[in-house]
Parts: sequence; C-alpha cells; structure tokens
Amino acid sequence: MKINQIDTYPEALLSCEAKDLHALFPQPTLLHLQGKRTHPLFISVLLHGNETTGFLALQRLLNQYATQELPRSLSIFFGNTRAAESGLRRLDSQPDYNRIWPGTEIADCPETQFAKEIVDIMCEKEVFASIDIHNNTGLNPHYACINKLDNRYLHLANLFGRLVVYFLRPLGVQSAAFAEICPAVTLECGRPGQQYGVDHAYAYLKDCIHISELATHPVLTQDIDLFHTTAQVKIQEGHSFSFSDSSADLFFDSGIERMNFTEISAGTCFGSVQSNDAMPLSAIDEQGHEVTRQFFKIDNQQLQIKRNTMPSMLTLDERVIRQDCLCYLMERIRL
Ligand SMILES: [Zn+2]
Repeated sequence: MKINQIDTYPEALLSCEAKDLHALFPQPTLLHLQGKRTHPLFISVLLHGNETTGFLALQRLLNQYATQELPRSLSIFFGNTRAAESGLRRLDSQPDYNRIWPGTEIADCPETQFAKEIVDIMCEKEVFASIDIHNNTGLNPHYACINKLDNRYLHLANLFGRLVVYFLRPLGVQSAAFAEICPAVTLECGRPGQQYGVDHAYAYLKDCIHISELATHPVLTQDIDLFHTTAQVKIQEGHSFSFSDSSADLFFDSGIERMNFTEISAGTCFGSVQSNDAMPLSAIDEQGHEVTRQFFKIDNQQLQIKRNTMPSMLTLDERVIRQDCLCYLMERIRL
C-alpha cells in the first residue's frame, strides 16, 4: 500500500458523503493544496471510518476555498475510507488507523508503513501544525488532546476550547507521531452526525489556516482546564459485560456515560460483579504498567473506584468497548 499523492482533487469530493470517498480514493491518499503560506497545515480525517465530522468540516472548508487562494497550504489525509464505506471504525481485518503511527507497538504492516511515509513526507515539507479530527460514541464535551506539554501545543489546543487532555497512551496515535515534528492536536468533536460538531470543527480549521505563528508564551491558567490521563481501562478478555443483563460477569448501569468529564470521588460504584474474586477490569497507566488495583476494588459484589478521578470516553457501545476500551481516567494538571 503506497501513499497516493495528488495536488488536485475530483469535483465530487466537494459534495460526496464519507461513504463515497473510497470510490474516489481507492488507495491511501494524501492531497496537497497550495496556499499563500507555504508550510502546510496537515489535517487527517476518518482515521476512524465512522467518525465523519472532520470530513464534513473539511469539505466545507474546501468548498469555501474552491475558487480562492488558501491562506496556508494544506495537506490532507483521508484515513480509513474502506471502513467509512461501511460506516465502521475499522474493518475486522484492519488495524486501528489511529494506532499505526510511528511509536506504535503493533507489528510492522502495510498500514504502519504508509503512516510512517506520511510523517516523513510532512517532515520534509516542514509541516506547520497537525490536526486529527475524531468523534466519540459516549456523552462527552468537545475537547482537544495533546501529547506534549509545550506552549505552542497548548495554544493550538486551547483555540478549540478550554478543555484539553494531555496523554501519552495509547501508543501509535497520529497526534503523538506528529508531536515529534510540529504542534499537534487530536480534536474530539462529540458524536458523529451532530451539526454543532461540524460547525465547531470547521470554525477551528478556518482559524488555524489564518494563523501565521503559534504563540510561545504560556496559556493563561484561567483560560484552560487541563487534564492528563492516568489510566486506560479495558474489560479483560473472557469476562462478559452488559448494560441490560444483570447476569453478566460485569453489569453496568446504563447511565454510566453521565460520569464522563465529571470529577468523581473515591468509593463511586462503576457496576456490579458476579464474583468478589475475579477483577473483570484492567487499568494500564501512561508508562504501560498494570495499575488496576490502585484504581479499582470489589466490595460486596460492587466494583468501586478507589481514588478521586475523572472518567472520559465511557460509552454504551459494546463493539467500541471491545475494540478500544471502556474508558480513560484522568486527573487535573495545574499549569
Ligand atoms: Zn476516533
């Protein structure tokens, strides 16, 4: 799978749906568009094929600049168009397109090779900044993520909103790879299909193509709510879970999503379990260490959190929970 590089696009790109992109770009495609400032802004959309907000925001931007010069060059990667065709995050036969980037722990494969090729190409072009646009399935506010605590990165994130998450894991994400060569963010724009998400992402892209330079002075503390991920929580293989069937190994309340981005205290119950002896969750910290027992305990068949924390990305989508994780746990960082 070699990267297909183009500098013009078919007219249909301006009006097609995300599911039609694969017909336009059957192989991984990088579109370079020339603008007034030459160092390009890199934008990736649809790394997860069912997360269409970034594509729709970008499409609006391209329509707006179809007949006028862009203020800055753009390089665009259209992500997992095959999965988008089926409306899925990824196909079962594919790796997750937001785990394949340099720094990944997954084995070498065609996808890790083209991801590396894209970073190399953008490095050579002296990329100005990188924006990777996502949706999530749970009830989450919009926020931006960064992988480096650097003022320019914080400013780029803060332009999207006051809520910013700093994380190092999982490995192999796009923004972490680009963070090595330029200011980079991942945007989380709520659920797919919400007009507000497209409007917000579009306004952000438009702001970004007009920036001449990112500030290097500190972001004012009153302008930002910065959190860092302390653990990624998965359900251990071999344990069943459910939001409706209380006979599953792990039974969650269907209102669990309401805990997203809420600071919860030690002792809060996450769900109930069949056995007091078998811990169904696994928590991994940012260094990759198993920290389950520091975060969770089972008391009288209740699964409880052991310390004050703030969950994010909790979702009721069982496929996402199996393919990705149950949630992340975070703590506030004071700058
Ligand atoms: Zn995503």
